[in-house]
Amino acid sequence: MHGSLFSLLVVGCCCCGVVIASTSPNLLGAIVGGTSLRSERFASRLSVYTSPLCLTPSYSSLFPLSPPLPLSFPPQREYSVTQKYTVNGAEVQAGIYRSETFNQSGQAVYGGPNDPRMGDTADLGCPGWFGHIELSRPVYHLGFIDEVKKALGCVCYSCGKLKNLLTKPDGQPDHEMNEIMGIKSRKKRLNRMHSYLTPKKICQHCQSSQPKYYRKDLHIEIEFPVDMEMAGPDRKQFFPASEAITVFSRMSDEDVRYLGLDPVYSRPEWLVVSVLPVPPLHVRPSIFAGGSQSHDDLTHQLVNVIKANLSLKDASDKGESR
Ligand SMILES: [Zn+2]
Repeated sequence: MHGSLFSLLVVGCCCCGVVIASTSPNLLGAIVGGTSLRSERFASRLSVYTSPLCLTPSYSSLFPLSPPLPLSFPPQREYSVTQKYTVNGAEVQAGIYRSETFNQSGQAVYGGPNDPRMGDTADLGCPGWFGHIELSRPVYHLGFIDEVKKALGCVCYSCGKLKNLLTKPDGQPDHEMNEIMGIKSRKKRLNRMHSYLTPKKICQHCQSSQPKYYRKDLHIEIEFPVDMEMAGPDRKQFFPASEAITVFSRMSDEDVRYLGLDPVYSRPEWLVVSVLPVPPLHVRPSIFAGGSQSHDDLTHQLVNVIKANLSLKDASDKGESR
């Protein structure tokens, strides 16, 4: 049980499980510490901070057993990592966008992974606050990539509608589609819809040919049919998460519901990560030993993510290909 809770927490976000692949002895200590103050504070944080910054829906919102609760947001703070902020006359942008943790005088850098706007670990009354990294390119979420592939197989690549109508072109009702619409379990409906619609090669709305999708490791590949225009020289090519967002964003709310998803809480494009939550400093405290300070493993991973993100942004600004 601890293992599953731990693996959920180390990925960085208590509501979505965004992957920051790392293990954290500090965090594990906080979880298995029983009734320690740190554990209680951590538990309260888990229940309170389903951050609005997290743009990926949870499994419970994907396939809710009961009607979901209305959206709620924590009260506004005087300043936040989600907003621009002015420090000593210098403007600090929203979000985490610098890889430096401390400056030469030992102070935490604004915009870095230890940004003071995320809270003060020395203040026992401070619960800690999530930050965020705006990714230069969206990425597939490990926990939802199979759902994304299933949904892509059901939706027309060209017009963004479900490939089949409830009635056939000859005017007769499509009994299988009508039966699928009657399935109350959203998860089962998505699976049935995927089994029925993915093999369809033509969209009934716009009559365009449909590509095939394959999952390969942590990304998705697309294979275009021979009569379809394509971007690159190969019929089978990498399908970027940004293009999945483009396809899903054409979907109507009604089709999203038919697919078994909820247009208010979990539109399919939200299954792709474009903003990465940064856990508060309290989740990844630094260790002081022998007069030196050592960062938590999660902080090291965040620094790697920020560096990679900056490199990608730089390459993309210079016009390098995807
Ligand atoms: Zn179509």
